[in-house]
Amino acid sequence: MVYNIIMIPSHIYLWGNKKNFTLSSASQGGYVLSETTITLCYREQHRPTSVEQLKRMIRRLYLQECYLYAQKRIPYWTTVLGVELKKVSIRRLKSLWGSCSPHNKTIRLNLCLAIYPHQFADYVILHECLHLIEPNHGPMFKSLLSKYMPHWKSIHQIPRQKLYQEVFYV
Ligand SMILES: [Zn+2]
Repeated sequence: MVYNIIMIPSHIYLWGNKKNFTLSSASQGGYVLSETTITLCYREQHRPTSVEQLKRMIRRLYLQECYLYAQKRIPYWTTVLGVELKKVSIRRLKSLWGSCSPHNKTIRLNLCLAIYPHQFADYVILHECLHLIEPNHGPMFKSLLSKYMPHWKSIHQIPRQKLYQEVFYV
């Protein structure tokens, strides 16, 4: 009998909070959140046997959390800015927090936004929605950012804070 022993993190970050991390066999997948703990559930036949499978499960958690948050904030910002968005996709992006295609009126968001506090995801959503008005990062773009989110300069530094050095990257 060969056992697969995989390294399971003792905690992961969700919306800026460090939470204890546990795995649990259940009749369905999904996850359970409490004040202190995230429990990822898996069906017995889908027990993760590699770090890559575990990361895939955590990515699903972040994807779902980002989806729920974007569902609240996208309608807010598109209304405030008076812009029209045709499609929002949330996915794993290697080197971007988000991107916007003003021509197609679509934005993409990185599912790892769910690691950091909500205000960082909100900043990225605002940033990408503003590209529907101003595609470049010139003075006009920055003055719009400052108008709608006066503290954006400190918010956009959040992922570089020392606090997040031990993030379990997925
Ligand atoms: Zn940009």
